[in-house]
Amino acid sequence: MFANAQTIVQWMEQLAPKSMAVENDRIGLQLGSIRKEVGHVLVALDVTDEVVDEAIRLNAGLIIAHHAIIFRPLAHLQTDTPAGKLYEKLIKHDIAVYISHTNYDVAEGGMNDLMATLLQLTDVKVLETLQHEPLQKLVVFVPDTHAEQVRAAILDAGAGHIGAYSHCSFNVSGVGTFQPQDGTNPFIGHAGKLEEVKEARIETIVPKSIKSRVLQAMFKSHPYEEVAYDLYPVDLEGTAYGLGRVGKLVEPIALQELAERVKSKFDVPHVRVVGDLDRPIRKVAVLGGSGSRYVKHALFHGADVLVTGDIDYHTAHDALAAGLSIIDPGHNAEKMMKADVAARLQALADERGTQTRFHPSTVCTEPFQFL
Ligand SMILES: [Zn+2]
Repeated sequence: MFANAQTIVQWMEQLAPKSMAVENDRIGLQLGSIRKEVGHVLVALDVTDEVVDEAIRLNAGLIIAHHAIIFRPLAHLQTDTPAGKLYEKLIKHDIAVYISHTNYDVAEGGMNDLMATLLQLTDVKVLETLQHEPLQKLVVFVPDTHAEQVRAAILDAGAGHIGAYSHCSFNVSGVGTFQPQDGTNPFIGHAGKLEEVKEARIETIVPKSIKSRVLQAMFKSHPYEEVAYDLYPVDLEGTAYGLGRVGKLVEPIALQELAERVKSKFDVPHVRVVGDLDRPIRKVAVLGGSGSRYVKHALFHGADVLVTGDIDYHTAHDALAAGLSIIDPGHNAEKMMKADVAARLQALADERGTQTRFHPSTVCTEPFQFL
């Protein structure tokens, strides 16, 4: 049995919810149809002609890529331009293209976390916060006999996390009343008769992203046909989400040593380095892709170095003057996403017993050569 492409996209959106993307980013399904089963999926950084040939060779019905193939509204679709030819080839071979870009950068375990993990950073925080996850208060009324069961179900589903504490809830006992109407099948009582039942009021906190999972667990474990519950927004900030990460090295190391570590861990042949190579580095900021805009964020967090791509000449001078070192492994260092995304989707597909295979693209899409 092969997985449906629509289902694969849902898995991808569990890993990197679309709501986490930066405004106006080009993400989601960009080309083709996902209403089909796919035996092979190719995971790529860029969708180039060679990558599409690789997808054709693999008989892949879907490419999941990091960089968009359509950036602005198309004025035409002429198939004698390089871009037009590429779209034509994809459509002719029934290959859909799905993009996960800044949402994957921001997501827990995504590009920026991956970079921080590869460099063995500890005490990792977000470099630029874009949003805090909204929190909601969940209150549910349960007959005393089932209070423990419902409480366990909603807390095990992930409700009730406060800082480093899980399973946080508050519980009071009271009396609930109800009168079943005609046509009901009440768990307690009889149609037309007012009932009084000893009930518990269980309240807890739920991050919006797992709300449906928690509610499902609540409905499943609750004995009543009609569950009485309230869900209301609270003016509290949940987990911070954003671009880049900043963290500490367990032991300070020289800038040169960190540059060597970046080269080997990110699997890049060269890095450009700004700053005194002997300088001890303790705090490291990382950002996948183009990070020229993030010098001030790195300085604000007290980082000694910013590891990011596409640094330009003047930004390098500004950083040097401000005392921030830079290691630039190039934009293509983002290729690390291929193996990560393919492995995590493969695990989800295997768990569900499907035969669909996920392949990290083996095509090198680095446009630069170093002579
Ligand atoms: Zn990028």
